[in-house]
Amino acid sequence: MQIPLAKPDITEKEIEAVSEVLHTPKLSLGPKLNEFEKRLAEYGGVKYAVVVNSGTSALHLAIRALNIGEGDEVITTPFSFIASANCILFEKGRPVFVDIDPLTWNIDPNLIEAKITERTKAILAVDLFGYPADWDRLREIAKKYNLKLIEDAAEAIGAEYKGKKAGSLGDVAVFAFYPNKQITTGEGGAILTNDERVAELCRSLRNQGREDGKGWFEHVRLGYNYRLSEINCALGIVQLKRLEEILSKRERIAQIYNKKLKEIEEIQLPQKSPDIRRSWFVYVIKLRDDFTMEQRDKILKYLQRNGIECRGYFAPIHLQPLYKKLGYSKGDFPLTEAISARTIALPFYSDLDEERIDYICRCLIKGLKEVAQS
Ligand SMILES: *Cc1c(COP(=O)(O)O)cnc(C)c1O
Repeated sequence: MQIPLAKPDITEKEIEAVSEVLHTPKLSLGPKLNEFEKRLAEYGGVKYAVVVNSGTSALHLAIRALNIGEGDEVITTPFSFIASANCILFEKGRPVFVDIDPLTWNIDPNLIEAKITERTKAILAVDLFGYPADWDRLREIAKKYNLKLIEDAAEAIGAEYKGKKAGSLGDVAVFAFYPNKQITTGEGGAILTNDERVAELCRSLRNQGREDGKGWFEHVRLGYNYRLSEINCALGIVQLKRLEEILSKRERIAQIYNKKLKEIEEIQLPQKSPDIRRSWFVYVIKLRDDFTMEQRDKILKYLQRNGIECRGYFAPIHLQPLYKKLGYSKGDFPLTEAISARTIALPFYSDLDEERIDYICRCLIKGLKEVAQS
């Protein structure tokens, strides 16, 4: 049996929509882009959505549009995908890491104020694994120190924090549509905001610095080609229409895992809270604190030998070679390091069946036993 870690949920409807676009002459900057943006803004509960060619591009433009530049500091989490810190480096800003909450694994608001300086411009918080950060607390701190709030909701489309949708929780938010996310456009991303100026700037920056209503060869500012094609947008529209269906399938898979794993005392299951609707991105468990990273890696290898694709999720950003060169080192963020060393992401996608989940859980239990005996 070979079980992948993630798999996109694509039906004939998506294939038809993409094929329809290919029968038209308009493959970029057309009606699908406008429709996808309109639907995304509506879904996210904001005024504007600007789609781009990746989540990373979306983060880059969010940083640019907020005018974060050389020497500016942005407070963020070291427990995330690398792009959420790299986007600050793209503009020569300084990512200032703050350790995470031991239960939610999101940035710990209690540790932020100590890291604020005159150069701090923004807080960039990640809704990790589809579980929104503590936005009420983040908003309070941002208000007190006059900081911008950036929400990296790349893993959280459809999630809710106290009844509010992920994507509407900061001043600017991003979604991502890589094939392992809840919905995909192949490659793609979006910026969401209520700020008209930010939206306009992002539209210009993704399209070579052009401006609406001006000529094709009139470039007002330094821009990029971060456009998302009509083909991708057509795919995105159908995926977005199917989002609730996809999320409920993923919720069901997560519940089956929870049920099968809840009795195993060596592992901690994903966090829950009545305030939060998690949008299931990955299913990540954590080994008890007496397990070492070497033991975790042995369990990963055992699962992989048995055809189960799995991974530690994530490796701390501050321990990546690039960030070590910037002066970060082991021991800087103890909770991130301790949790990261013990995580296991198990296969997770909408049509994963109970038979496979059962097999995965049995292998996991065997792997735990093997490691405990060695
Ligand atoms: C996936 C992801 C991104 C980047 O999205 P891409 O579309 O792969 O560029 C950014 N931040 C987080 C937290 C992500 O999980």
